[in-house]
Amino acid sequence: LKNDLLGKFYDALFERFGPQGWWPAKTRFEVIVGAILTQNTAWTNVEKAIRNLKGRGALSPEKLRALPAEKLAKLIRPAGYFNVKARRLGHFIDHLHKRHGGSLERLFKTPTAKLRDELLSINGIGPETADSILLYAAKRPVFVVDAYTKRILSRHGLCAPDDDYHAVQALFAGNMKADERAFNEYHALIVRTGKELCRKTKPDCKACPLERYLS
Ligand code: SF4
Repeated sequence: LKNDLLGKFYDALFERFGPQGWWPAKTRFEVIVGAILTQNTAWTNVEKAIRNLKGRGALSPEKLRALPAEKLAKLIRPAGYFNVKARRLGHFIDHLHKRHGGSLERLFKTPTAKLRDELLSINGIGPETADSILLYAAKRPVFVVDAYTKRILSRHGLCAPDDDYHAVQALFAGNMKADERAFNEYHALIVRTGKELCRKTKPDCKACPLERYLS
């Protein structure tokens, strides 16, 4: 990309919105649970589900593993698709137990590329969820792409709306220094921009710090 555009976008968004303090979770395990629960739902719903799990003292790999599937589904009901998501959480916990003796410490000793493949091998974990876990729980310099990222970049002609996940991710990997802190902040800033300004219909370009980069 010409003129360090992604770097300039970042600076403009950071100047407008400041640090976003992501991921809003207390522990690495809470990040993982949140990353699975947030698929196809708003974060406010995830918060309710996580509050339920906390209320039951179930927010650890062992406790969650001990919970019967129906109970788990009931607790995470506010996050939607609760039966599917209960199964997905179950797949992750089983994997952690079988491969790493239930230890996140051990899981996170795996080098990044291998860890990514391992996460993707778990039923129900796709690229966005795997990369969210890598970036926000394992603190690896991996860029998380989501629908907002594609929308913003494609509106500025930097990618096509239907480019696949890896093509968009490669733009960041190829044009920015791999920096965990910056990637953490950048994804959060993109989500904020997508929600508040770069909406699906009627984007508010006039109010947006990226307006000057529209051609
Ligand atoms: S709101 Fe407009 S200026 Fe802002 S990111 Fe979206 S398309 Fe670009």
